[in-house]
Amino acid sequence: MHKEETLPQPLVRDGQSRDFIRAIIAEDRKKNKHGGRVITRFPPEPNGFLHIGHAKSICLNFGVALENDGVCHLRFDDTNPCKEEIAYVESIQRDVKWLGFDWGSNLFFASDYFDQLYEYAIKLIKIGKAYVCSLTADEIREYRGTLTEPGKNSPYRERSVEENLDLFSRMRAGEFPEGTHVLRAKIDMSSGNINMRDPVLYRILHSSHHRTGDKWCIYPMYDYTHPISDAIENITHSLCTLEFEDHRPFYDWLLDTLQTPSHPQQIEFARLNLTYTVMSKRKLLKLVNEGYVSGWDDPRMLTISGLRRRGYTPNSLRSFCETIGLAKRESRVEMGVLENAVRDDLNDTAPRAMAVLRPLKIVITNYPQEQEEELVIDNHPKIPEMGQRTVPFCREIYIEQDDFMENPPKKFFRLAPGREVRLRAAYLITCDSIIRDEKTGKIVELHCTYDPASRGGSSPDGRKVKGTLHWVSSRHAINAEVRLYDRLFMVENPEADKEKNFIAHLNPESLLPLTNCKLEQSLLNADDTNRFQFERLGYFCLDSLESAPGRLVFNRTVTLRDSWEKIEKKS
Ligand code: ATP
Ligand code: MG
Repeated sequence: MHKEETLPQPLVRDGQSRDFIRAIIAEDRKKNKHGGRVITRFPPEPNGFLHIGHAKSICLNFGVALENDGVCHLRFDDTNPCKEEIAYVESIQRDVKWLGFDWGSNLFFASDYFDQLYEYAIKLIKIGKAYVCSLTADEIREYRGTLTEPGKNSPYRERSVEENLDLFSRMRAGEFPEGTHVLRAKIDMSSGNINMRDPVLYRILHSSHHRTGDKWCIYPMYDYTHPISDAIENITHSLCTLEFEDHRPFYDWLLDTLQTPSHPQQIEFARLNLTYTVMSKRKLLKLVNEGYVSGWDDPRMLTISGLRRRGYTPNSLRSFCETIGLAKRESRVEMGVLENAVRDDLNDTAPRAMAVLRPLKIVITNYPQEQEEELVIDNHPKIPEMGQRTVPFCREIYIEQDDFMENPPKKFFRLAPGREVRLRAAYLITCDSIIRDEKTGKIVELHCTYDPASRGGSSPDGRKVKGTLHWVSSRHAINAEVRLYDRLFMVENPEADKEKNFIAHLNPESLLPLTNCKLEQSLLNADDTNRFQFERLGYFCLDSLESAPGRLVFNRTVTLRDSWEKIEKKS
């Protein structure tokens, strides 16, 4: 386990429940419902990587279990062999663990229940609550009616139990092509709730399954599988997102009709939506497949693996999920809330370092050519336990190009001809002259002089020096590529216009790679579990995938708010 992965602590606040779900559970426990036990589950379909919305569901399900001495199951809802893959199963487990949660021995797959699900289907047929329907998919849709009009009964609805049993077993035996028959529940075609109009329970799919191979050629539908899986696992509270509210009557009908030994309680909450992004796996898959991003773990993607690569910590995602809370109504959370969560976390945990992203060379003409010295700098301005490091200084250094202006406006407190600034923890320097490329006239370097009496950056005679710049010794600097990111989409809600493809809103400038960056020496030992604050520039981490011996690639996790101001006052 990496050192960053402090385990989530149960959150109990003065006996008060944080949200309506925790209130329901507290009440249930008080009444000794389910024998006072709490068993939840997180049920991903392995058809994509997990995203930040899933993190909300994971934090809720595992969090509630932790707080109530319960357990949370990880159950793969793998009922659609056409879209699912082992690689997704593995990435999901990695992501849940990384977030800091542990399912212990409670790892399950809906496909492990295929035999039981089949037996339950036989039971439904035998009690006259399910039938084999031979309408085509289009006809089923047509017969289903609309929100305002009732549906009508399938002509196959009154098949005898014997005929249904025979047809269903032949469906299983592979006698029929796809689309010729389905098994449907027999409920009520005139129900106001479309989900109760004889929903499909099984369809024929001549596809291999990543776990059951070719054993099955009929596969249960999600709405049929999910309640039964919950019941088999003795789940007490089945927490899901609001779109399942209309499915709850079927959830309850099914378990009541089958008289399963356990009947979990389904409770819905609003899913997480964020501004400037899309959240559905289908859309994320499109971004990946069509090459708009480099993969599921592209640092611009709001997948858990993308956020991890970007430098987000498990702690920051958990605290984000806590901040947004739970509601019964859909809303869109500001991306800034997520960015603040990681900023707050890294502000307290990330050591500081200096890096120059767009270097401008400075020659300190009165500093001896051969001289070098080691300056001692705190790793964190407020946390002495984080220690100190030494940073080398010599005659030639780099500063940021935009920390110099030839003709500065009045309020520019950085370097300019004739002006004096402080080099962070080093010396005061004054700019004497600009050296240009003879042909292009472009600035190639600045010549400055330093005040030897200002070592450490203090003013020897109390003269005021407002600006403080970060810098890197040119002789000791290490080269790196640094990638700056902006939001992947240019508009708050890329899905707002149903007519327009969300792809049209992609931000063409969401990735800015800078290839000639100069980093302080100490960053040579960084690994991808470390995060740093590059002073004045933001929080950064090593890119786990693209860095290699001799090639350093850093990602900017997030920009700084304005923590520089404080450091200036201090020095
Ligand atoms: P998507 O809509 O992104 O394709 P999904 O609901 O199909 O997601 P599942 O793998 O079925 O993905 O989701 C697993 C669990 O995560 C479900 O219980 C689902 O309700 C929950 N979940 C998915 N998206 C969100 C979200 N945006 N906010 C909160 N919970 C979510
Ligand atoms: Mg789903």
